[in-house]
Amino acid sequence: MKQIKYTFYLLSLILFIGCSSDDSGDSSGIPDNDLGLGQSAHDLLANDIFSTMEIEVVYPEGFQPENESLQNLKSFLQQRTYKTSIDINTREIELNSEGPYSIEQIRSIENNVRTSFNTEDKISVFIIFANGKKQGDEGTSNTLGTAYQNTSIVIFQETIISFTNAPGAPSKTSIETTTLTHEFGHLLGLVGIGSEQQNEHEDPNAEAHCITENCLMRAEAEFSSGIMGMFGDNIPDLGSECILDLQANGGR
Ligand SMILES: [Zn+2]
Ligand SMILES: [Zn+2]
Repeated sequence: MKQIKYTFYLLSLILFIGCSSDDSGDSSGIPDNDLGLGQSAHDLLANDIFSTMEIEVVYPEGFQPENESLQNLKSFLQQRTYKTSIDINTREIELNSEGPYSIEQIRSIENNVRTSFNTEDKISVFIIFANGKKQGDEGTSNTLGTAYQNTSIVIFQETIISFTNAPGAPSKTSIETTTLTHEFGHLLGLVGIGSEQQNEHEDPNAEAHCITENCLMRAEAEFSSGIMGMFGDNIPDLGSECILDLQANGGR
């Protein structure tokens, strides 16, 4: 009897260790939504695990993005991924804070308001338009957005709105579209953070950014001081090196 009891304890212990050592997903085998930046690049690009994508967009009153910007993001993703459908759901949220925000604060807001998570065949992305600047921003170099987890993006919408109001500034749709697609580019693993570089093109002075001229993934696309020079008649798009990396990792 003692022997049986001992065997049972040993067996439970092995089972317990077996489960707890798996930190890349829950017990169902579906990858989690709180992994590091770039870790879901392949899952976002290809359709071998997730055939569809759902994007949950939240914003407090007065900080809603333009519909056209979200449509532009959708077109960008349809062009670069193999998802059979991409749904964008927008929702107003209550926020009692007004920034500036650290990424830790944004993450804790996400924990309170995010309702969409990965399911068996759908990968979920969370985008929050924040009513404040990024903590630590100084002078004219203000951060427009940050991709901070495998499926999470914050857009500093207060910064975008005040930038749009400056004389000679590009339209709100242009800035929102550039910021959304640039940050999504990081979720897709660019540059060298989940989608391996096929040819060396990372900017030696700006980690995870591209050195190709006019590419969407250039570092200046992330800051209000840098983005101005990037608009000709068009919103910036990915250069050929970045597109090669996405294609090699399951994208189009
Ligand atoms: Zn960036
Ligand atoms: Zn590039």
